[in-house]
Amino acid sequence: MPRIVQLSTSVVNKIAAGEVIERPASVVKELMENSVDAGAVRIDVTLGQGGGELIRVVDDGCGIDVEDLPLAVDSHATSKIRSAEDLFSVRTLGFRGEALASIAEVSRFSLRSRTAEQSSGAELEVAGGARGQVAPCGCPIGTRIEVRDLFFNTPVRRKFLRTTQTEMGHAGEAFARIALANPHIHFTLTHNTRCIHDLPPTERWLERIAAFFGPELAREMISVESTDENITLSGYVANPAHSRTNNRMQYLFLNGRFIRDRSLQHALGEAYRGLLMTGRYPISCLRLEIPAETVDVNVHPTKLEVRFQDAGRLYSQLLGTLRTRFLSTDLTAHVGGSGGEQHEAAHDAAAAEAIRRDVVGWAKSELAERIDESQRQFQRQSTQGTLVAAESIEAQRAAAARYDGPLSLNYLNRAATKPRPEWLDDEDDDEDHAKPAQGQALPAPAGDETTPSLPATIRRVDRGGGAMQVLNRYVIAEEGDGVVVIDQHALHERILYEQIRDKVLAGALESQRLLVPEPVDLSSEEAAAVLASGEVLAKLGITVEPFGGGTILISSYPAMLANMPPGELVRELVDRLLSGGKTPDRRDVLDELMHMMSCKAAVKAGDRLTPVEVSALLDQRLLAQDAHHCPHGRPTALVFTREELDKQFKRT
Ligand code: ADP
Ligand code: MG
Repeated sequence: MPRIVQLSTSVVNKIAAGEVIERPASVVKELMENSVDAGAVRIDVTLGQGGGELIRVVDDGCGIDVEDLPLAVDSHATSKIRSAEDLFSVRTLGFRGEALASIAEVSRFSLRSRTAEQSSGAELEVAGGARGQVAPCGCPIGTRIEVRDLFFNTPVRRKFLRTTQTEMGHAGEAFARIALANPHIHFTLTHNTRCIHDLPPTERWLERIAAFFGPELAREMISVESTDENITLSGYVANPAHSRTNNRMQYLFLNGRFIRDRSLQHALGEAYRGLLMTGRYPISCLRLEIPAETVDVNVHPTKLEVRFQDAGRLYSQLLGTLRTRFLSTDLTAHVGGSGGEQHEAAHDAAAAEAIRRDVVGWAKSELAERIDESQRQFQRQSTQGTLVAAESIEAQRAAAARYDGPLSLNYLNRAATKPRPEWLDDEDDDEDHAKPAQGQALPAPAGDETTPSLPATIRRVDRGGGAMQVLNRYVIAEEGDGVVVIDQHALHERILYEQIRDKVLAGALESQRLLVPEPVDLSSEEAAAVLASGEVLAKLGITVEPFGGGTILISSYPAMLANMPPGELVRELVDRLLSGGKTPDRRDVLDELMHMMSCKAAVKAGDRLTPVEVSALLDQRLLAQDAHHCPHGRPTALVFTREELDKQFKRT
C-alpha cells in the first residue's frame, strides 16, 4: 500500500513554480508586478539571452525591511493581505506570496533592498531554493532582484525553453502589459546591451499606447469613455480599418491588472460586428475600473482570468459604449489606410480632421437640401415600411407611366419592382405585374443608354456633384476635398441591411402571403432545422409549416426577396442554419439571415444603374448609420483626398 508523506518545502515550491513560472516572461511579470505594488516610479528591466541567462528588475519603490528579507522568499509570505476576507478587496497585483519563493526555487536568485528608513541595504541570495545569509550591502532605496540561469535545477523545464527570440517575444509582451497599464511609471527594457524601450512617465495614456502600438495606429485610435454607477470604462479602440488576424492586440486592464476575459472579448467583437471582415479581430486598449469586492481575482494562478460578480452588466456596458461611439465617428476607410498595418504618413490626425470637417461641411451646405428631402421622405415612407427616392412619388409615377420599355429596377427595392413570378400571386393581384405592389417602392425611371434621361434626373445628378457609375459596379462622386469611390453592391447591401434590421426590430418587415403555399423538399435534418427556427424566420416575414417527411410549406415570404424563388431562399437558409455545427444563438441566426437577405436584394456588381438610382444610392448613404462598411465588414467606399491624388501625380 502506498504510504502518505508530507512533501518537503522544496518540492512544494517546485510544484508552485510549475504553476506560476512557465518561462522567463513569467518571472518578468511577477517581478515587475512586485515593483508596481511597491509604489515605484521607475522600473528598469534587463534581460540576458531572452531571460534564460539573466532577468534583472530594479525599482525605486518602498523596499523590503532587512528583517523581512528571508520572509520575502518564503512561500505564503506576503505583505499584501492578512486575512481571507482581504482576498475580496485586493488592490495590489500580488497577494499570494508565492512568486519570489517559486522563482528562487528554480534559479540563482539574488535580492537587494533598502527602505527609506535604512541607511544601507541588505542582500540575500538563494540558489535553487537553498537560502544564504542576509548580508549588508550598499544600494539605493528600492529593490533589485536578479534571476540567473532560470530552471538550471529543473532540466526538463529548461529543455522547454525556446529560442532566445521566442522567449524575448514573450518577455516583451509581459513587459508591455505592465507598462501599458501604468503610464505614470518610467519603464525601461534592455536586452543584452540593447535598449528596447525607454518609456518616460506620461499623463497621456495614448502616448504610452503609441510606444507599443506604433504612432500610426495610435493616431487612428478612437477614444471611449463611460461610467455606469461604480463601473468606469475608458481607453481606446482602433478604427475598423485596422484589425488583426488574432485577438492578441486586445488589451484589457481590470483595476490595473491585465486580464483576458472571453465574455468581454465577445462584447468587443460584437461591437465591431459588420465593421470587420470575418476572421479579423479588433484592436483595443481598455481600462475597466470596478469596486474590488465585485470581482474575484483568485481563480487563476497567474491571475490572468478573473470572475466577475456581474459579468452581464460589464458586457452590456462595453458593447453599448462602443456602439454609441462608432455611431458618432467617421469610420470611412481612407486610401493608404486600408489593410491596416501600414499607413501613409500623410494621413496624420490633422489631415484626417480636415477631411472630416470638409465632408461634414460639404454635407451640411451643398447637400443639406438633399438630406432634408431624403429625411422627409424617410419619415413619410418609413411608416409604410418602404423608402423611396427623394423624387416625389407623383414624378416617379408619371415617369413610369411615360416609359414603356422594360422597367429598371428600383434602387431601393429592386426585387419588388421586377416583374413578379407567377408563384408570387396574392389575393388582390389583378394588376399588371409591372406595377408595384401596394406599400412597395415605386419604380424609378429607366436609364439604359437608349433611353433619354428625364430632366428631373439630370438636375438631381448635377446637384449631386456629378456622381457617375463606372464599370457597372462603382459609383464615383466628389466628396469634400476629394473623390469617393463607392462599391454599389456593398453600400446598397449595407443600406438594406439597416432597413431590414430596423423593420425587423419594429416587427414591420413586409411579407407577401402566398395564395398557394410553396412546398420545398429538404432532408429531414434540414427540415427540422428550418422548422425549429420558425420564430426567427417569422420575424423576417417567412412563414414555414411542416408538410410531412422532409417537405415544408412556405406560406409567406419577405416582399423584398420577391425575385428569389422560395426553394432557393430556403436552401440558403438551411446552409446558414446548419453551418455553425452547433445550434447557433438565435440573435446570430437572425443577424445572419438579415445579412443574407440584404445581400440577395441589393444591386449586384455588374448591374447598370440609372442616374436616378445613382443619386438615390448617394442619398441613402447619408442616412445609413454605418454607410462605411457592408454587413460583412468590407468597406463600401474609398476616399481619395485631393492631397493623396496630388501626391500620386507628383504635384507635391
Ligand atoms: P506577493 O507579491 O504575492 O505578496 P511575492 O512572492 O511576489 O508575493 O513577494 C513577497 C513579498 O515580498 C511581497 O508581499 C512584498 O512585501 C515583498 N516584495 C517583493 N518584491 C518587492 C519589491 N520589488 N519591492 C518591495 N517589496 C517587495
Ligand atoms: Mg508578487
